Amino acid sequence: MPMTTVHRVFNFSAGPAVMPVPVLEQIQRDMLALPGAGMSILEISHRSKAFEAILAEAEADIRTLANVPASYRVLFLQGGASLQFSMVPMNLLGPGAVADYIDSGSWADKAIKEAKKVGAVNIAATTKGDRYARVPDQSELQLTPGAAYVHMTSNNTIEGTQFSRLPEVGAAPLVSDTSSEMFSRPIEVARHGLIYAGAQKNMGPAGLTVVIIREDLLERSTSRGPTLPTMLNYAVHAENRSLYNTPPCFSVYALGLVMKWIAAQGGLSAMATLNERKAAKLYAEIDRTGFYRGTAEASSRSRMNVTFRLASEALEKMFVSESEAAGFDGLQGHRAVGGIRASIYNAFPEAGIDALVAFMRSFEQSHG
Ligand code: PMP
Repeated sequence: MPMTTVHRVFNFSAGPAVMPVPVLEQIQRDMLALPGAGMSILEISHRSKAFEAILAEAEADIRTLANVPASYRVLFLQGGASLQFSMVPMNLLGPGAVADYIDSGSWADKAIKEAKKVGAVNIAATTKGDRYARVPDQSELQLTPGAAYVHMTSNNTIEGTQFSRLPEVGAAPLVSDTSSEMFSRPIEVARHGLIYAGAQKNMGPAGLTVVIIREDLLERSTSRGPTLPTMLNYAVHAENRSLYNTPPCFSVYALGLVMKWIAAQGGLSAMATLNERKAAKLYAEIDRTGFYRGTAEASSRSRMNVTFRLASEALEKMFVSESEAAGFDGLQGHRAVGGIRASIYNAFPEAGIDALVAFMRSFEQSHG
């Protein structure tokens, strides 16, 4: 097995994000020719047997890992999670119906803006007034009887908050944007109508969106077929097994390798245990003295995106530049909120967490 001799920084980017090194090594090994194919994944026809097998295996591995019931379809789409902000209402929200949205962060807000262009939206709860420092409680939800669906954002990438359990939404299909946490912990697929996520955080490279949809919801897409653009129709993609048009072949292949890597780590429960431990180490350091201030309320803290502030923006700037000199990358908070954000997805190594904790401590000693 070739050794990685190049220097790699600790990459705290929110996405595209760090990939598992064994996956990168395999991509490198197979780059000139996929075993048995005599050509690379960048050159192969999406209609070839070899690629169809790669796609089918990626789907099968997703099904096994996430325990996806047979009544759900797994789709590989493009356009990012952002296109799902439009596709979800275009497919699932009919005339005269209302969709409930839980507004728990900046990405939820974007989803709401797109849905409003398509149909009637009820904000079932919002924590905007708390600067999205927490996710709404069950008791705050004002759900619409007979809603077309309820939309939530399970992990709020920018604000660093996460639902620790799924809201109870009654009979309405729960639609969840899980972009920044899919496959970082077990998923209760059967409690959802639809789950979507861009691949570029926990699952692979950019260019691919995974959608898991309950089969009965496809009827809504089919009934809108005459007016819905073909490429935006879930039923079309389901019927064509994600091969209606050319899929992002490389991203599907790389996602497949990441699924095998997750399985080799012990699956989603093992990932969750590791991710909890990684996040707990960082939060313990944040809470140790008060020099660092976590921005999320403790009960809503994300295991994926750890957000905190220092006493001043000047000090935060210094923190980021000294961290870069020390071999860390991507610690600057999202441009909309500032501060510091450490994104620590599945492939982020625990050694990088320990190194950041040591850096935080020494930064505090010299600037505290
Ligand atoms: N939803 C969430 C929760 C996200 O974190 C992001 C990207 N950071 C998006 C949606 C948008 O995803 P994309 O860039 O794939 O469109």
